Amino acid sequence: MTNNRVFNFSAGPSTLPLSVLEEVRDQLVDYDGSGMSLLEMSHRGAHYDAVHTETMALAREVFALPEDFDVVFIQGGATLQFSMVPANLLAGAASVAVVRTGSWSDKALADATEYGSAYVAWDGKPVRYARAPAADEIEVRDGTRYVHVCSNETIEGLRFPEFPDIGVPLVADMSSDIATRELPWELFDLVYGGTQKNLGPAGMALVFLRHRILTSLRQDQGAYLRYGIHVDKDSLYNTPPVFSVWVTGKVLRWIRDSGGLKAMTAAAERRAGTVYEAIDGSDGFYRCPVEPSSRSLTNVVFRLPHEDLEARFLSEAADRDFVGLKGHRSVGGCRASLYNAMPQDGADALAQFMRDFRSRAR
Ligand SMILES: *Cc1c(COP(=O)(O)O)cnc(C)c1O
Repeated sequence: MTNNRVFNFSAGPSTLPLSVLEEVRDQLVDYDGSGMSLLEMSHRGAHYDAVHTETMALAREVFALPEDFDVVFIQGGATLQFSMVPANLLAGAASVAVVRTGSWSDKALADATEYGSAYVAWDGKPVRYARAPAADEIEVRDGTRYVHVCSNETIEGLRFPEFPDIGVPLVADMSSDIATRELPWELFDLVYGGTQKNLGPAGMALVFLRHRILTSLRQDQGAYLRYGIHVDKDSLYNTPPVFSVWVTGKVLRWIRDSGGLKAMTAAAERRAGTVYEAIDGSDGFYRCPVEPSSRSLTNVVFRLPHEDLEARFLSEAADRDFVGLKGHRSVGGCRASLYNAMPQDGADALAQFMRDFRSRAR
């Protein structure tokens, strides 16, 4: 580790593999002996074209994307997809079912209602977002085009341990656990995620969509908002977010060379397990509000007995160079985000600190 590197538990933008950052540093000013930076080059030139094509190919490889899916790189983060998905998919009288598991699915719901009929097919609010539903709890009405799920709720710290097979295509916001798990592609029409949590810098979303759906999408909107344009133009309809594409490609290569999604899952389970163990072994000093079976592997949320102690915990953690442990402002408490680039050492050090803090606090 470079000696002044902290453990960055931020929810996003978040920690990146050090080897990737170093590579970017080394290549930033003079790209491949060209006398200029990749950031200064035309996105229609040979250098950038090679980067773009390779990042696309790596995305296909790492995600084991079936042939009949397309990859799109697009700006606007996951938030643009909250609008773009219903704007494209909700044709005619079709409606969208939203599984409300927390703050992000709630935002997807709000935007979907702007484009057509959207309803809540399972509501986690009454159970304070303490768990995800089983497939048979999700009530889908006739005429539903797709079911929107948020695979991992970043703020409340819960996830779908398995994706529900309910006979209607799923659309998934995977922003905070993308590239931490293999996907049952047969269940999905579309999957999207912002890059800034597991895949690279902010500024881009990755969208995977089933090629067949392109023929039935709505066309009544500006060019940039149509998926078909991005697919036809290989995500080069307009100037792409070149820095994000470049670095995301490097992170995808790092994932592949580290053993791929299987290895990412194993590492995520181990990291999260280490922190949940510190919570569950604390005699109730630390409390996780999420039921064990739905607990997130990437965002571990927990509370201490009272807010003064939480403030002290966060301040002492900051003194030890543990960055970004404060819970989201809407829910308070603490949250340790443990994305792919977080080393197991970070989880070990945090768990040790949690045990030490508890013994000092009593
Ligand atoms: C961070 C996040 C978003 C928003 O992503 P942006 O890229 O900031 O638009 C949406 N959904 C989930 C699950 C997230 O974690």
